[in-house]
Amino acid sequence: MQPMLEVSNLHKNFGGVKAIDDLSFSVEPGEICAIIGPNGSGKTTSINLITGVLEPDSGDIKLKGTSLKGVPRHKRARLGITRTFQNLRLFNTLSVLDHVMAGRFCRSDASFMSYSLLTKAARTENAANVARSIELLELVGLKGKEHLAAASLPYGQRRQLEIARALATDPCLLLLDEPAAGMSSGEINDLIDLIFRIQAMGITVVFIEHRMPVVMTAADKIVVLNYGRNIAQGNAEEIQANTQVIEAYLGSAYKRELN
Ligand code: ADP
Ligand code: MG
Repeated sequence: MQPMLEVSNLHKNFGGVKAIDDLSFSVEPGEICAIIGPNGSGKTTSINLITGVLEPDSGDIKLKGTSLKGVPRHKRARLGITRTFQNLRLFNTLSVLDHVMAGRFCRSDASFMSYSLLTKAARTENAANVARSIELLELVGLKGKEHLAAASLPYGQRRQLEIARALATDPCLLLLDEPAAGMSSGEINDLIDLIFRIQAMGITVVFIEHRMPVVMTAADKIVVLNYGRNIAQGNAEEIQANTQVIEAYLGSAYKRELN
């Protein structure tokens, strides 16, 4: 079987900074992969390269065996690559439901014209999109909050809304940049649960995270970055026993978690 995602010998410099330095890793279909590492180790840059926000200086990224070289970000979204952001990007005055509906738009078949004229096809598709959006809100734990303004939600729920919006694009590969940031421990348990439910939908999940309970519980595979390089990869047990990882990162991450 082809890997869902294959990153090979990727390089990205910003001026003199080697943000990504010969990074290689792959993620199998249906796998949950965590990317961890100290601040500035290139985690967000790797997501920016996979989604096409940035082009690499060299190296390649393949989705299901096909190179994404030169494929613009909107086309990557159509191919099923979707992400959430480290810093929330919501439109605060829009309703919760409208956010998820906006996510569905990238899959819309009806043209802008037919939407404007409210043709039967557009109305049917719109009804299906509303139903699917409500299903996704239920999945992430926001049932009954469809008509609230996004701004009125507590922080943890706004993060869940971002995930619902990402799921609305029907991704095959979902990339989450620090989904547990700012979440309470109760919200973290819900998030772990949600990641497993997303996996059960057949979606491959790659997430960046500092909160070790999420990483160690949810990830099948953990990729550890340091200075833009992959210094280790393996399952939770292997990573927790890796002295290089403990020195570079885990020692301090665990201390933070305990505090
Ligand atoms: P992480 O997400 O692991 O904290 P980043 O991928 O955001 O790290 O950053 C990796 C390195 O690249 C850092 O040194 C950061 O300052 C630098 N960097 C990231 N994005 C840019 C950019 N757009 N311009 C210049 N430097 C950047
Ligand atoms: Mg980051």
